[in-house]
This record gives sequence, structure tokens and C-alpha cells, in this order.
Amino acid sequence: MAINKAFPDYSFSDSAFGMLEQAPSGHINPLQLIQAQLHVFKKHNGDVYNDTVVKIDSVNNSYRIKTTEGRTFTSHQVLVTAGAFSNFFGLLPRPLDLELESETVLLAQVSSEEAERLSKLPSLLYEVETEKVEGIYLVQPVLYPDGAHYIKMGCNLNTDITFQNLEQIQSWFRHGDSESNISLLREALHSFMPKLDVLSYKTKKCIISRTKHKQCYIGPTERKNLFVAAGGNGYSAMCSDALGEIAAHFVLHENTPSDFSAQSFEPVVI
Ligand SMILES: Cc1cc2nc3c(=O)[nH]c(=O)nc-3n(C[C@H](O)[C@H](O)[C@H](O)COP(=O)(O)OP(=O)(O)OC[C@H]3O[C@@H](n4cnc5c(N)ncnc54)[C@H](O)[C@@H]3O)c2cc1C
Repeated sequence: MAINKAFPDYSFSDSAFGMLEQAPSGHINPLQLIQAQLHVFKKHNGDVYNDTVVKIDSVNNSYRIKTTEGRTFTSHQVLVTAGAFSNFFGLLPRPLDLELESETVLLAQVSSEEAERLSKLPSLLYEVETEKVEGIYLVQPVLYPDGAHYIKMGCNLNTDITFQNLEQIQSWFRHGDSESNISLLREALHSFMPKLDVLSYKTKKCIISRTKHKQCYIGPTERKNLFVAAGGNGYSAMCSDALGEIAAHFVLHENTPSDFSAQSFEPVVI
């Protein structure tokens, strides 16, 4: 099969077909992406506070924003971009229609030689669906801050938790048993990478927020000058610059840029 010949480290069933997207597609280091975005923000006189907003009150024609560290900010306009946490801490007048789901990521540690050998491995979106696993994504080995190289693989699992409240999310991140998904994830990984030489496996916990129309929610709330941009659907890091631009456009002009229909990102509330 052409795709197995082209990328012999992948081994797909004969019924699979592949579409290869050439460079510049590939992978972005999410930590460096965030650093770059914050750098640009600061360059434009933005201030960054590592703090949690716990209250947004409307006072006269402005908003008073309060944080856990005891800070108070006043602003005429507010854009809430709290991701999967946008419905909590009273940030929004009405909750968004967001499906919040746990995600377990498998990090398979490989040697630096194996990482070198796989340095041309294309990132993968494998639209496979079995009883237990659906929609696999994988990134070639990357050097992590702990000095080790890991292949990162994720997918939807039949064991994923759908969250109803903040306490459940906090319990998942603090005590969630993501390791119980390791054998399922290992099996999935080796089903299409049978030759991969792995030193160790570990899991990471994450959360996905899905919107009603599968596009990010960007737009107004029922309170004037309070806007929202949230709901990544599991794939908004790669287009975060563009989505951020659309959100900024909305805050400045109260509409989406002309090349998008107003409904494209319309926030849906419960
Ligand atoms: C395991 C996993 C793998 C993924 N892989 C990919 C991928 O390969 N490609 C891709 O494009 N996307 C991927 N995604 C999706 C991507 O991470 C999200 O779509 C994206 O991060 C959404 O961006 P956001 O800014 O809306 O939310 P977030 O990135 O979640 O940012 C929200 C920020 O708000 C902060 N916050 C929350 N509440 C408050 C508060 N009250 N006060 C102050 N700050 C607050 C949070 O701490 C966080 O920093 C993945 C997601 C997961 C979970």
C-alpha cells in the first residue's frame, strides 16, 4: 500500500487511505506557541497576570474584575477566553452550551536514536473508529522539558468522562486515574506502529470543550461589552492566531470579519 511504503513506520490496514499534507503542515510546540503569543501581546503593551478571575461585576458603564490573589481591575470591555472553564467562576451571564470531556494523552518515551530515526515521521490524524477508540492523533518524538523524547498520541476513548461541574473537572486533574487507560492507548498505538521501540509509557490528563456547531464560540454575551471566545473542539491551538484575530475584531467592531458569516462562531447558551 502506497502510504505504508512511503512511511514504513506506520502500518495501516489495506482498506485505509491517506492524504499527505506537505510542509508547512507539521507540528507546533504548544509551549513555544504560547510563549510567542504572550511575547507579541506584551510587545503591544499587554500586561499578563498569572491569576484566576473569580468575579466580573458590571459597575456603571464598566466591569470590575476580581481575582483570587485579591487584585481588582476595571475595564470598559471584557473578552472571556477561559477555554473549558468559561462557564465557571461567574465569568459569563449565562452558561455556554459546551460539552466538557476528559482526554487522556499517551506519552511513549523513545531513545534519542529512535527519535532521530523518526524525525521525518509526519504528524497523524487517523480517522479510525472502534468500540473503544476513535479519532487518533499523533506527533513524532519531541524533546520534552524533562530531557526525554516522547511520542504523543491521543484519541477519544469509551472511558472518557463527560463533566457536569467544576468539582468533577478538578477531581479529574487532581486524582483522575488516567493510567487506567494506558493498556488501551498502548494497544491503539502499536496497532499502527508495530515496530516502535518504546522505553516507557505515561499518561497526561486534559480536557476538551466541544461546541454545539463544532466551531469556536466567538461573539457577544447578553451583557454589553462582555464578549466570549471559547470552545476549542479539540483542535483550536493550531488556528489560535486566526481565532484570536476574529475575537479581537469582534471586540473592536462588534461583528466578525467580512470573510466570515456572523453565524459562523455564534455563541450558543444553555
Ligand atoms: C490532549 C489534547 C490534545 C490537543 N491537541 C491539539 C492539537 O494537536 N492541535 C490543536 O490545534 N488543538 C489541540 N488541542 C485543543 C487545544 O488545546 C484547544 O482547542 C485550545 O487550547 C483552546 O484554546 P483556548 O484559548 O480557548 O483555551 P485554553 O487553551 O484552555 O486556555 C484557557 C486559559 O484560560 C485560563 N483560565 C480558565 N479560567 C480562568 C479564570 N477564571 N481566570 C483566569 N484564567 C482562567 C486557563 O488556565 C487557560 O490558560 C488539544 C487539546 C487536548 C486536551
